[in-house]
Amino acid sequence: MAAVDTAVLADWVSRFGTAVTEKRDWLTELDSAIGDADHGANMARGMSAVGEKLAGGAPGTIDELLKTVGMTLVSSVGGASGPLYGTFFLRMGMAAGAVSELDGPALATALRAGLDGIVARGKAEAGDKTMFDAMAPAVDAMDAALAEGSTVADAVTAAADAAEKGRDATLPLVARKGRASYLGERSAGHLDPGAASTAILFDTLAAAVAG
Ligand code: ADP
Ligand code: MG
Ligand code: MG
Repeated sequence: MAAVDTAVLADWVSRFGTAVTEKRDWLTELDSAIGDADHGANMARGMSAVGEKLAGGAPGTIDELLKTVGMTLVSSVGGASGPLYGTFFLRMGMAAGAVSELDGPALATALRAGLDGIVARGKAEAGDKTMFDAMAPAVDAMDAALAEGSTVADAVTAAADAAEKGRDATLPLVARKGRASYLGERSAGHLDPGAASTAILFDTLAAAVAG
């Protein structure tokens, strides 16, 4: 596939909602170790609200679809992850524009705009033990794969692999952002919940693009 259209991205959003709902207990368990035990509930609630918003059919353009997702997450999730993922989808939509298809480079640009939105909002840097630590390597891997001539499907698969590695690499880190940072050294030895949901985000993107 040379391009990703609105239907594929709507399928991504739907798969992400299904996956965070299936993995709700695991995400909450991760958050109970270093946070307030609500990350699974936050993500499942937010994505279920998104599912209801999109139930009448996905909008025709990619910016409308992603803006709807982002605004719904911001307004339905109280925790840090709502505004952060909300901003990700809003910025991704703005970067995509009123189009119904994105080629590989345009998709990578839109994903990076989403990542930049998370940074603008939460100021996370590499190694702070946040969703950034899964997302930044994913977006970098996608750029690298496209630069080597990969198809968009292979590039998003490379992004998903990098997100998983980034998630796993949060295990030994001491948190410097978010609630987990209140624990100081005691946050080491646990995966970051937001990095875990971001790995799911890229895994479901790869699955949707693969069809
Ligand atoms: P809350 O911490 O408000 O209960 P969640 O539990 O839903 O919200 O989400 C926690 C996740 O949010 C963390 O695991 C981390 O990945 C992410 N996070 C928290 N603060 C930041 C930040 N400043 N920048 C990026 N990600 C953050
Ligand atoms: Mg929490
Ligand atoms: Mg909370």
